[in-house]
Amino acid sequence: MLSQPVLMNDFVRQWHETGEAASQAMIRVGASGWYVLGKEVRGFEAALAAYQGRRHAIGCANGLDAIEIGLRALGLEPGERVLTTPMSAFATTLAIVRAGGVPVFIDVDPSGLVDLDLAARYLAEDPRTRFFVPVHLYGHALDLDALGALTRRFELKVVEDCAQAIGARSRGRPVGSVGRLSGLSFYPTKNLGALGDAGAVLTDDDALAQACHALRDYGQGRKYEHERIGLNSRLDELHAAILASAQLPRLAAWTARRREIAQQYHARITSERVRPLPAPEGSESVWHLFPVRVAPEQRDAFVDHMKARGIQTAVHYPKLIPDQRALSGTPFVSVGTLREAHALARSELSLPIHPYLQDDEITRVVEAANEFAP
Ligand SMILES: *Cc1c(COP(=O)(O)O)cnc(C)c1O
Repeated sequence: MLSQPVLMNDFVRQWHETGEAASQAMIRVGASGWYVLGKEVRGFEAALAAYQGRRHAIGCANGLDAIEIGLRALGLEPGERVLTTPMSAFATTLAIVRAGGVPVFIDVDPSGLVDLDLAARYLAEDPRTRFFVPVHLYGHALDLDALGALTRRFELKVVEDCAQAIGARSRGRPVGSVGRLSGLSFYPTKNLGALGDAGAVLTDDDALAQACHALRDYGQGRKYEHERIGLNSRLDELHAAILASAQLPRLAAWTARRREIAQQYHARITSERVRPLPAPEGSESVWHLFPVRVAPEQRDAFVDHMKARGIQTAVHYPKLIPDQRALSGTPFVSVGTLREAHALARSELSLPIHPYLQDDEITRVVEAANEFAP
């Protein structure tokens, strides 16, 4: 019997549900005669700010720009050190480098997220470092009590990378509530995905919000008054309209389904060879990914085993950021050997967890994982 493949993301099923609302949004924008930074963008920004519990959301072109804009709004000076994690999408570091910062890579803990104790130890020895871009990886929330304490103790300027963690909380507290700013991505695979690229910066600070508004639009404060070296990172009306009327209203239900699937995997995957990564203490995760650890020498065999059963998997991420060739001519600091991050890069694998996964597909994933016997 031929069964459909189990995909990491199923945009066709998503369109089946969202297509009508998205098409109406397109007609509305087309007929309005206004296509960039207008009332659709303002409406989406207001809804998004409310969803994340922040005063301001500033729509922009993508998640990479959101982090860069955040760092520039905070006044990052060229050559200043910025703590971050070696285990993330490359975009996190790219934003730091493009903003003129020097990334300082701190190892991760067993959850795969940046180790806040190691960050504290580093900061105690290098008090010059004032910036931090922590990443709420995999949809898990970093321990925000610990992040808040670190921020206060070392007077850090923090831009939280929430690209994978919209809606995640740490002991009831939303991600993005510790940093002066946070960045979101609406790349299609993210928990809130556009039909293309989009992103947003969020903040509670009126002055920072104003700076972000200028930075996304050539650095203009008022029209033709350029106060800063800005970007063109404007958000289209079309993407904002689709996000606001077809996607955001479904995010809570999508997140609930992701949580249900994660719960099923935790309860039913019993193989000793396939171990879910632990979430950080206190994390109310939104399960952007479902990362597991397998023995490094068995990972390729596990990928093939799943593939033979029609199940896609992916590795997040196989190569650490400081090991990427793009950084070879760029100043950066690796703190210690990044042992845990290297070990994870060799052993991590993500199972499908998108909200359109059906019950029989969850069972297929569980059974395939449990049957793995290399
Ligand atoms: C996707 C992602 C980004 C970048 O977002 P884009 O919209 O692709 O630019 C940044 N950080 C993390 C952790 C991401 O997953």
